[in-house]
Amino acid sequence: MAKKQKYDCIKCPAYCCSYAHIETKKKDIQRMADAFGLTFEECKKKHTKKGDKDTPRVLRHQKDEHYGTICKFIDLETRNCTIYEARPKICREFPTQKRCGYYDFLSFEREVQDDETWVATTDN
Ligand code: SF4
Ligand code: SF4
Repeated sequence: MAKKQKYDCIKCPAYCCSYAHIETKKKDIQRMADAFGLTFEECKKKHTKKGDKDTPRVLRHQKDEHYGTICKFIDLETRNCTIYEARPKICREFPTQKRCGYYDFLSFEREVQDDETWVATTDN
């Protein structure tokens, strides 16, 4: 049986979605294209941009009050993914362990500060 995860994404403002390089491979772009009714090239241009050597194609970002920028597919009010069924493979796999480092940090600080709404900000 799979081990129980030690994090709760519902209580987190989607820190992992603020990573600058959220990888999109060909299969990811095609999955999104199918969901949006776009061609592969239309989807690639509209929703992804050039990354770096390790991640040549990445999701585009939007401005975000907490992290500077965040994936364009986050709903800024609910902090939920708006393309959950069509999200890239990397989003489905993260975090790869039963713990999430950011969630551990967030939980610790919220307890210490006695503030369940506290958010650790970063500036990308
Ligand atoms: S940073 Fe961790 S807890 Fe927050 S949404 Fe991502 S996986 Fe979930
Ligand atoms: S596609 Fe969804 S899960 Fe992936 S980074 Fe963007 S908002 Fe987060």
